[in-house]
Amino acid sequence: MRIVLLGAPGSGKGTQSQRLVKAYGIPQISTGDLLREARAKGTELGLRAKAAMDAGKLVDDATVLGMIRERLSLPDAVNGFILDGFPRNIPQAQALEAMLADLREPLDAVVLLNLDLKVLFKRLTGRRICENCNRVFNIYTSLPGTLPHCDQCAGARLIQRDDDKEEVIGKRLDVYEAQTKPLISHYTAAGLLRTVDADADVETVFANIQRAIAK
Ligand SMILES: [Zn+2]
Repeated sequence: MRIVLLGAPGSGKGTQSQRLVKAYGIPQISTGDLLREARAKGTELGLRAKAAMDAGKLVDDATVLGMIRERLSLPDAVNGFILDGFPRNIPQAQALEAMLADLREPLDAVVLLNLDLKVLFKRLTGRRICENCNRVFNIYTSLPGTLPHCDQCAGARLIQRDDDKEEVIGKRLDVYEAQTKPLISHYTAAGLLRTVDADADVETVFANIQRAIAK
C-alpha cells in the first residue's frame, strides 16, 4: 500500500499514521525525519541538506526526493509506505510521480484527513501540556476532572505552548490551506484522492481510512 497522507495540524495525522504502520506493516516516511537522519549519518545527500540549512536555505526538491528514494529501497518498505510532509506543492507532486513511475511503484491513494477549520482551531487552541511530564491534554476533549492539573503530577500546572496560541495557530492553518488546496485538485484529477471525515474518535477515523483505501 503506497499512500500519501494529507492532514492539517490537529487532524490526528500522527496517530492515524501509527495505526496504518501497524495494520499494513509499512513504514511512515516523514521528510523531517529523513533530513535529520541523513544529516546525522553524514550521507552525501545529508551533507547537501546540511549545507543548505546552514546557509538558511530550503533543502532543494532533488535532495529531498533522493532521500525518499534511498528510504524506499530499504527492506521494510517492500510492501509500501506512508508519505507524510511531502509533497507540499505541485512541482514536488510531479517529481514524486516521476520517481515512483521510474521505480514502477505508483501511489495507490492520497488520503486527506478532512476537518472543518473551526474544529481544528478549537482542537489546537485547547492543547495544554503538563509543565512537569509534558503529557498533552485538551481543555475540550480531555476527561472531566483531569483539568486544570495533570492527574499524575501533584501540583503541576498545565500550560499552553507559544505554538498553540491563537495567532500562531491561525497562521499555521492558513499556510496548510494554501499549500494543500492545489494538491487536492491535482490528486482529485489523478483519481487518487480519498477524503476521510476526521471529526470522530480515533477508531472511527481509522475505520474510515481503511474503507477509503480499500476502494
Ligand atoms: Zn504531568
